[in-house]
Amino acid sequence: MTDRVVIIGGGIAGLATAIRLAPMQVTLIAGAPLSVGAATAWAQGGVAAALGDDDAPALHAGDTLKAAAGIGDPLVAQAVADAAPEAIEWLAILGTPFDRDAVGKFTLGLEAAHSRRRIVHAGGDGTGRAILMALIAKARATPSIAVVEDARAESLVLDRDGAIAGVMVRHGNAIEYMAARAVVLATGGIGGLYAHTTNPLGAIGSGLAMAARAGALLRDMEFVQFHPTAIDLGRDPMPLATEALRGEGAVLIDDTGARFMASVPGAELAPRDVVARAIWRELLRGRKVFLDGRGIADIARRFPSVTALCRAAGLDPARSPIPVRPAAHYHMGGVKVDRNGRSSIPGLWACGEVASTGLHGANRLASNSLLEALGFAKWIAADILQPPDGRSPRPAVLPDAPKPPSGAPDRARTERFLGVVRDADGLAAAIADFAGDDAATVCLPIAAAAWRRRESRGGHFRSDYPDAKPEFAHSSDITLAHARALAAELADAMPHARRR
Ligand SMILES: Cc1cc2nc3c(=O)[nH]c(=O)nc-3n(C[C@H](O)[C@H](O)[C@H](O)COP(=O)(O)OP(=O)(O)OC[C@H]3O[C@@H](n4cnc5c(N)ncnc54)[C@H](O)[C@@H]3O)c2cc1C
Repeated sequence: MTDRVVIIGGGIAGLATAIRLAPMQVTLIAGAPLSVGAATAWAQGGVAAALGDDDAPALHAGDTLKAAAGIGDPLVAQAVADAAPEAIEWLAILGTPFDRDAVGKFTLGLEAAHSRRRIVHAGGDGTGRAILMALIAKARATPSIAVVEDARAESLVLDRDGAIAGVMVRHGNAIEYMAARAVVLATGGIGGLYAHTTNPLGAIGSGLAMAARAGALLRDMEFVQFHPTAIDLGRDPMPLATEALRGEGAVLIDDTGARFMASVPGAELAPRDVVARAIWRELLRGRKVFLDGRGIADIARRFPSVTALCRAAGLDPARSPIPVRPAAHYHMGGVKVDRNGRSSIPGLWACGEVASTGLHGANRLASNSLLEALGFAKWIAADILQPPDGRSPRPAVLPDAPKPPSGAPDRARTERFLGVVRDADGLAAAIADFAGDDAATVCLPIAAAAWRRRESRGGHFRSDYPDAKPEFAHSSDITLAHARALAAELADAMPHARRR
């Protein structure tokens, strides 16, 4: 049996897992050169950790569960919050230049729905890039990590017992079979499937599609977070006006100057889904929406990335409000994993945004995703480092023909059916419509799970069921086969549910 461990993805999840596994030999495959194409590089807000004198991991876990809207896993929330201080120290030791005060303590920022100042930054709003650069430098200096860039994993190969046997990897026109005893999916999110997104356009859920096709259990697929304040200055993907701006006092106004969030509980610091829907409603009414940061002292120094982005489009945020709209930002759902990051397929782990650990439930608390990847990378590495279970491997079942590359996803379709506001007709049409390619393999279980969840909760809002219902206060498991069965059922029951 091969001893090879393959990690797919070169963002925080893949790199941290590879580094934690050293000196075990690993092959890390990244679809693009490291530092390109990973959402990690774009994280502006920072990493949440209970480091303040007035804070404690239990408070952090409590805020996480509140955001999760009744379906977060308390044990996971506590474990991740407990892991945060060590994870920050680990990154600091690797060379991440975190912002500190005059006596060397971490400078802690406030973000929406956090009850304490607990967001650690590096280089102001350049946190993700600073972390990624430190991880890349460490990975490149670690002899046990073989990095294969510009290579895309296309499918998981199972053995005759349904356990991982390897991965099919495409390098240009060539396809290679890499045998592996363990595979860690760390392929990031799905925002690139939406017309308006803050994610790299390559974040199209290819790892999620691979796991789904292999029969993995998926969880909470219907929960997609829309960032309320993507900067609407004509760029695709859309740059983000970080939540920290609202934490520091920026307010949302419409084109008449009215502050439409003033009467909503929590106002601008209400949970993301509440703010996103409030902005969505203004846009539907034909209004334009702006984030007004003119009241923030020294905004150019404290928010250099946002300022530079706006200035490149001819707008100075110190003088003018920034045009914003909601955009697909984060997928709470994903490959269902346990406390060790193990999926339902023996030999397959998932880490980072592709995974559903139970931490985020129906809605992610800001700055918890980098942290989740760091915590689980450590636990996954410890699990893989356990001696193999001694099972005799069965022969791999290699695919007869390599999968043809998927075409560009229909982003308008995803946004129309699976956007900020959903309803039964749209979901039925989506279920009838999504078939075939990787995008459909991801969108079909999202649509099916959203169809089954006849309520609104967290990031999932249905205009035909606008309230949360106690009978749905649980996370939802689904497989691609379940989603296909629902599609077949609906095709019989609702033959009119066609493309629209
Ligand atoms: C604009 C923005 C701001 C954010 N701000 C924050 C924040 O402040 N704090 C926070 O906690 N979170 C934030 N997030 C979320 C966070 O950045 C992501 O959830 C996290 O970085 C995901 O890390 P990852 O390693 O799972 O995926 P990524 O960093 O996206 O890395 C995915 C990797 O997988 C590779 N890949 C994908 N498919 C394949 C394939 N088939 N074969 C080979 N390689 C593949 C990609 O090339 C890439 O290297 C933000 C996200 C965005 C988009």
